[in-house]
Amino acid sequence: MASDVREQLRLRLEGLEAAGIDWLPKTSGPPEGFEFAAASPELVPVEEPRREANSQEGRQITLNVLRERVSRCERCPELAVSRTQTVFGVGPIGAEILFIGEAPGADEDRQGEPFVGAAGQMLNRIITGCGLRREEIYICNILRCRPPGNRPPQPTEEQNCREYLDETIDLVGPKIIVCWGATAAQNLLRSTVGITKMRGSMYSYRDLPVICTFHPASLLEGRSPQNKKYVWEDMQMMLKSLGKPIPVKNA
Ligand code: SF4
Repeated sequence: MASDVREQLRLRLEGLEAAGIDWLPKTSGPPEGFEFAAASPELVPVEEPRREANSQEGRQITLNVLRERVSRCERCPELAVSRTQTVFGVGPIGAEILFIGEAPGADEDRQGEPFVGAAGQMLNRIITGCGLRREEIYICNILRCRPPGNRPPQPTEEQNCREYLDETIDLVGPKIIVCWGATAAQNLLRSTVGITKMRGSMYSYRDLPVICTFHPASLLEGRSPQNKKYVWEDMQMMLKSLGKPIPVKNA
């Protein structure tokens, strides 16, 4: 019970801070001329609606507070000065599937959403091919800021941002994680193995199953569209592990 009250208080204070209120007046008792009535045994306490910290609503509030904190983050000085905005993540609390990409590119940096532009359209086609809707998946990146010139994230940047990723995973509570591309897979799982070898197997992170596959951008015409069949195999593995039907693919 005491930990519940502490959690509620913490959420309330973080919410106030997020709203720009960073101090509260100190009170040592009732204002002059006021007296608190003694508790009366006849009074029946009114049951107030409680917002459990772990409820969907409580987790959404905590995620909103985290998003606000991230928007002011300057842990990676080079990224903080060059970004247009932070790109936090999109999707519902309680999403069964959580996608992780590398880092925002130019389109994401401009629009504030992960996986937009040509790679985002390819990802949308993959999602539709799986019989799913983008709105039911939580999508985020290893980093929340665009590295200048789309260079790969540096180890210190990935470490700086890992706390935000972990908190997001815990709050969303997915059943499975999919890493898109070598950078996401290697960073999440702290591996140096190439994506061609990593894909096709199941891994684990924070007790959740993880699948790694090729980045949607690498499947675009002029790059390696022949790898679409491997991505489809990996998607089938994802659907199977969730007990979802596997759509019949048109030839
Ligand atoms: S990449 Fe993450 S840790 Fe680095 S400045 Fe952006 S939000 Fe902060």
